[in-house]
Amino acid sequence: MRDRYDALVIGSGFGGAVAACRLAQAGQRVGILERGRRYALGTFPRDWSNPRNGWLYQHDQGLFDVRPVNEMTIVQGAAYGGGSHIYANVHLRMPPDAFADGWPRGYDRASLDPYYDLVAWMLDLNTVSADQPFGVPAKTARTREAAGRMGRGGQFVLTPLAVDFGDPYTLRANKFGAQQYGCRHTGECDIGCNFQAKNTLDLNYLTVAERHGAQVGTRCEVTRITPTHDGGYEVLFIDHEAGGAERRTTAPVVVLAAGAVNTTELLLRCRNQYGTLPRMSSMLGHRYSGNGDYLGFAFGTDLPMEPSSGPTITSGIVHDRGTGAARRWFIFQEGGFPREIAGLLQLIDEGDDRLTGLHRTQDEVLKGIREAARGRIGEEKDGEHSAVFLAMGRDTADGRISLVPVTHDLRVTWNLTRNLGLYESEERFCNDIAEALGGRTAANPLWRALRLPVSVHNLGGCVMADGPSRGVVDARGEMFGHPGLFVMDGGCLPASTGVNPSHTIAAVAERNVEALIRRITGQPRWTAPEREHAVPVADPLDSVRIPVGGTPAPSAPGTGLRFTETMHGRLRRPEDPDHRAETETSFRVTVTAPVLADFLDDATHPMTAGGIVHVPGITPAEGAQVAGGAVNLLVAGDDRDSRKMIYTLPFFGQDGHPYLLDGVKDVRDHGRFDVWGSTTTLHTRVRRGSTPDAPVVLSGDLRLGALDFTRQLTTVRITETANTLWQAGALARFGLFFAGSLWDVFVRPKLPVPLSLPSAHRGGVR
Ligand SMILES: Cc1cc2nc3c(=O)[nH]c(=O)nc-3n(C[C@H](O)[C@H](O)[C@H](O)COP(=O)(O)OP(=O)(O)OC[C@H]3O[C@@H](n4cnc5c(N)ncnc54)[C@H](O)[C@@H]3O)c2cc1C
Ligand code: SF4
Repeated sequence: MRDRYDALVIGSGFGGAVAACRLAQAGQRVGILERGRRYALGTFPRDWSNPRNGWLYQHDQGLFDVRPVNEMTIVQGAAYGGGSHIYANVHLRMPPDAFADGWPRGYDRASLDPYYDLVAWMLDLNTVSADQPFGVPAKTARTREAAGRMGRGGQFVLTPLAVDFGDPYTLRANKFGAQQYGCRHTGECDIGCNFQAKNTLDLNYLTVAERHGAQVGTRCEVTRITPTHDGGYEVLFIDHEAGGAERRTTAPVVVLAAGAVNTTELLLRCRNQYGTLPRMSSMLGHRYSGNGDYLGFAFGTDLPMEPSSGPTITSGIVHDRGTGAARRWFIFQEGGFPREIAGLLQLIDEGDDRLTGLHRTQDEVLKGIREAARGRIGEEKDGEHSAVFLAMGRDTADGRISLVPVTHDLRVTWNLTRNLGLYESEERFCNDIAEALGGRTAANPLWRALRLPVSVHNLGGCVMADGPSRGVVDARGEMFGHPGLFVMDGGCLPASTGVNPSHTIAAVAERNVEALIRRITGQPRWTAPEREHAVPVADPLDSVRIPVGGTPAPSAPGTGLRFTETMHGRLRRPEDPDHRAETETSFRVTVTAPVLADFLDDATHPMTAGGIVHVPGITPAEGAQVAGGAVNLLVAGDDRDSRKMIYTLPFFGQDGHPYLLDGVKDVRDHGRFDVWGSTTTLHTRVRRGSTPDAPVVLSGDLRLGALDFTRQLTTVRITETANTLWQAGALARFGLFFAGSLWDVFVRPKLPVPLSLPSAHRGGVR
């Protein structure tokens, strides 16, 4: 590497490859520093007996960088070409409405589409099809059939893939001059394609970059960036190729593209540990997203899925249901795996304790996986009736990447609670599709044991924004406070993309590097030379039909909560103001939130209610069954400082007519701090008829007695999970929701400064 370049690019994944290619085409002297290795045709690791032999970055700069960081397990690629060597080749555009999730001004789908078209041309996107040498894989066909059986056929898509589906057995030059075979459907896309059938970045963008003079240092790990006196930057790196020697180089323009987590970590170290980039926004590390990733498996499917035949992912099903905080948007994708790990995956199905036991820590689970892998990986095992499921979706993107004070260890905090609704919907969807395929489902071990998400789609941490109070870089990727320093990888995306993100990372990099080149070359009309070839490409997601009211709710059960409530009181007839003939009325109902996360996220906090109502003179002596009852718990009241609990309990009287017992608990502070009275008094009406405007035959207050309340507490149950950790977590979430609502009514209005209990745990508040 030289001492000085016009532009230095750190990392060679989707952001870095685009930036390096365009800067080199624009005549800049470009240096690329990549910590991973360069892989020539047929050189990806295949020694299954030794995980250290080429697989892990931590051992001699292997291909995978797996980092367990507190509340998330992060998987990234390390290679010349970045994540493109281990990704599943899927390229989808962000749905237009996703740009409303905190993107800077000027960003929308229409303005990004030309750059998406350009990326599509560079990466030669195709879907699987019957006229290709290996045709449509079995798993693609099975997934399409299952979608139809689930009533989701209108949301099924074939995913565009950066894969060459031409002649599998003839090595030939692609349009950039790089050598490739066509795809042989080996299912090894996630461990590096030894036929160069994937259109990885080294075979297109980086080939062009090098042809235009870009110099590449592989196994060069950047550790520090320091401003220089002439307004540029000095970049310090460890040259592993040279035995770990420390080297430095400089440039007026530095593009960080080391991936969302690594770019953010590098910048945090420069600011907090070394103090070399002190003027960065305090938003550094904020707005991290794991893109709602959920990983699951299915075993024992009726028909063979043949998961090791075909590209790793070929198709998907969109789920879009609900509104506001309760909206669940995700895309399910069918996956595959190399034959050699079939034996390991079967251990999940066999209930091997190392993979399915309820371990206590992330380290213990990962140790269990490593031990199991030693025994089973590489063994010949039939996995034809199994499947891998991946779902990803629009999460809250409010995680945080930081350094632990003093030790400077990397820490990622992720608010599982606020994303549980999304994860649970994805999990239930996977359970549904496993059933539709005639199989049984299993979650990945980290999720099953600890509810720890695994993310392969890390985003954010140094996001684009309209100002430094919202983000770290401007809408063109340039850092606030440090001009000439750019972020052009997944780290600059302001929110989850919902879909697989590489297409958007590359398109945003195309757009931002174009603006940079126009500025530094003084050519205001500069565009990538390939723009003239790129034609508008149809987005398969545009053909997805979402029914009015959303796609069907998953039918598999989720973690829920129920309790039984008993209330008593005397009601009177409207024509009896003197209370001469009061009717002793009571009900005992079991109130259920079938999916707690949905209950918390839905602003109407709906629960179902079923049980018995006693209204002497109307119901028989043994009472009447409540059919289709509902309770809305602690919904917004008439003003900011009040809440309501609304009860709707329909039943049939002994006269055969429908009746309705409806009531409201008006939870507000009447100045007496009467928390007990307001949460246990139900202003009740009994109506002859089933609608809220039916005539009132009785009215008055029902109350929950102290003894009944004590009994009620003993009836609280968490449903659909035997895992005591999850039960405790669900109870805690419900408790915080309840306590938080009461705090907002009775305590917060009296405080001199607004102070809320952690809203993250209270649902419905975003
Ligand atoms: C198993 C798997 C499957 C996936 N499938 C898909 C898919 O089908 N579609 C999709 O869109 N996405 C997929 N992804 C995610 C995709 O790989 C990433 O979103 C994408 O690669 C991110 O692009 P990037 O430019 O932000 O960073 P990366 O592509 O990760 O590139 C960052 C590069 O920087 C290098 N680097 C890091 N630190 C340093 C340093 N200090 N010094 C020098 N170099 C450094 C890294 O080695 C890497 O090469 C998948 C990921 C995995 C793990
Ligand atoms: S299926 Fe096999 S041959 Fe085809 S792109 Fe993936 S790894 Fe390469």
